Amino acid sequence: MAKIQMTTPLVEMDGDEMTRILWKMIKEELLLPYIDLKTEYYDLGLAYRNETNDQVTIDSAEATKKYGVAVKCATITPNAARMSEYNLKEMWKSPNGTIRAALDGTVFRSPIVVKGIDPCVKNWEKPITLARHAYGDVYKNCEIKVPGAGKAELVFTAEDGSETRELIHNFTGAGIIQGMHNTEKSIGSFAKACFNYALDTKQDLWFATKDTISKKYDHTFKDIFQEIFEKEYEEKFKEAGIEYFYTLIDDAVARVMKAKGGFIWACKNYDGDVMSDMVSSAFGSLAMMTSVLVSPSGVYEYEAAHGTVQRHYYKHLKGEETSTNSVATIFAWTGALRKRGELDGIKELMEFADKLEKATLKTIEGGKMTKDLALITSLKDVTVLNSENFIKEIRNTMDEM
Ligand code: NAP
Ligand code: MG
Repeated sequence: MAKIQMTTPLVEMDGDEMTRILWKMIKEELLLPYIDLKTEYYDLGLAYRNETNDQVTIDSAEATKKYGVAVKCATITPNAARMSEYNLKEMWKSPNGTIRAALDGTVFRSPIVVKGIDPCVKNWEKPITLARHAYGDVYKNCEIKVPGAGKAELVFTAEDGSETRELIHNFTGAGIIQGMHNTEKSIGSFAKACFNYALDTKQDLWFATKDTISKKYDHTFKDIFQEIFEKEYEEKFKEAGIEYFYTLIDDAVARVMKAKGGFIWACKNYDGDVMSDMVSSAFGSLAMMTSVLVSPSGVYEYEAAHGTVQRHYYKHLKGEETSTNSVATIFAWTGALRKRGELDGIKELMEFADKLEKATLKTIEGGKMTKDLALITSLKDVTVLNSENFIKEIRNTMDEM
């Protein structure tokens, strides 16, 4: 069979440790035999980031802006231990942070749903995708521990020197104060990324804040979403047959628990931090969670939600067998290939992505899986495979299909 041809390269960002090993196996076993794979390769492995003074990360982000679609392997974010392990010149910043800043994006995370790995919430039939705003609020706050009686005020000084003041509290004893902010620009980008992603995946979009209590702060989020929706998206949503739904955050939590899934849940920064851990653990496993960074200009970067699986890598280095789950990394590739196919009008590439995903799920549903899934599956008759054999088994399934 002739290999599928590509016209525009994918930006390929290689990474570290166990996921770097999986990366190579996935390409060799599951992609290269079927696709004339065109990529522009960037080695974001820590050794090469160090060698290039992290320029390679910046270059890979620029290439992503140029071509529009990237696929990224998990990478090490250096800490003190990594400084000596890799003999680093500097404690380089998190590549994800650098790429996120360059693309000004929103991160969408969704679980990969498969029969036999059942969510704890039994009515969740379809994935729930969480969209987390990644700027401001309590993550960029300033705080004071109030030692005793006194007056606390919120003061804004405009460029012309004029002041606006609000009394926070007249303290009669010790206490605490917190100041936080967001910007209309960042909230607007977040809203657009969410509306675009909903259209792209043809799923309803939910958004919630506490605007009844926070009448200016949270209400601004609600208003900006509503304004942008009415101006730019209402018609498109109608055509796509999807809805934008706004409610209060506590109501949203109650509804999510009773829902069937199959929608996107946009959350403010703190809500997203808390709720994404709840949603992902209730769906089963970090190794079954995909992540995509979408910029307001429509640039996409696909990756797995987990890290480099360091513990497994050290076992691998000692020559011991590993059973590391490659599903989220495979789905990062299929997400990127499907998007590339869609942008370039290559139907075969989109169909290949669908087929590889189906083969991956079919392999697991057939009882063949890695150890992390074997521990939580409801299937009987399970064969636990090592990292390599799991990927080979997916290839067998695909060839049978
Ligand atoms: P991790 O790589 O996510 O792994 C934590 C643990 O979760 C593993 O030890 C393993 O549990 C389990 N696990 C995660 N992914 C798995 C998979 N695919 N298959 C099977 N089990 C899996 O987090 P970490 O070990 O704390 O971090 C390692 C490095 O990753 C760090 O240097 C960190 O900076 C980096 N990191 C990168 C990203 C990213 O690039 N997006 C994200 C997070 C962390 P058991 O050991 O119990 O088997
Ligand atoms: Mg968290």
